[in-house]
Amino acid sequence: MTDLFPAPPVPRVPVRGGGTFPVRRIFCVGRNFADHAREMGATAPASRDERGQPTFFHKPADAIVVDGTDVPYPPGTRDLHHEVELVAALGHDAPAGPLDAAQAQALVIAYGVGLDLTRRDLQGAAKAKGLPWDTGKGFDHSAPISELVPAAEVGELAPRTLTLAINDQVRQHSALSNLIWDVPEIVQELSRLYALKAGDLIFMGTPAGVAALLPGDRFTASLDGVVELRGTIVG
Ligand code: MN
Repeated sequence: MTDLFPAPPVPRVPVRGGGTFPVRRIFCVGRNFADHAREMGATAPASRDERGQPTFFHKPADAIVVDGTDVPYPPGTRDLHHEVELVAALGHDAPAGPLDAAQAQALVIAYGVGLDLTRRDLQGAAKAKGLPWDTGKGFDHSAPISELVPAAEVGELAPRTLTLAINDQVRQHSALSNLIWDVPEIVQELSRLYALKAGDLIFMGTPAGVAALLPGDRFTASLDGVVELRGTIVG
């Protein structure tokens, strides 16, 4: 059997030190920083015991935009928002069964910084009706991402910080120690729901300070001291 049309190219993210990361799926975590949960009008858990279940959603793999590439202002919205996020990259297929923390950590081969671009007006309208967020989150060019840095080079994550500057003004800044669910915990939770595979990316959720982007805005997202992502929103 032959393909009816050329198979679409696999989205790829450059890896520091050489090679590329072929993207299979993009998982995203909602409400993973208490200050952002509150700014969105949600209740933040008072303690680790009250965290409940993390919220997951998806973006299509071809929503990836690599570092230094212009991002087109998307159609259908008048309120495009930035959300700066740590991105964890899985380089191995998960073994069967629920993972323990060490197994979860072992799947993560690299980290980067990305933007979970959001059509906030569409997301808000969907939330108000109890409908899915897909059109607000999973659109074309909605996942700009930096090069990926091997996990061994990144070292311990908790002392690291995320920063997003728009036109050189800092809009979002937080320590990763503020994550409600850390990377191995999120990988463990995902492993209860999906057979995780090499090529899966996880956008880990954003801290407070989300706000609108306009055509012409330049963004610099940073996993501070590790890697940066730069681009421009174009009309
Ligand atoms: Mn997000």
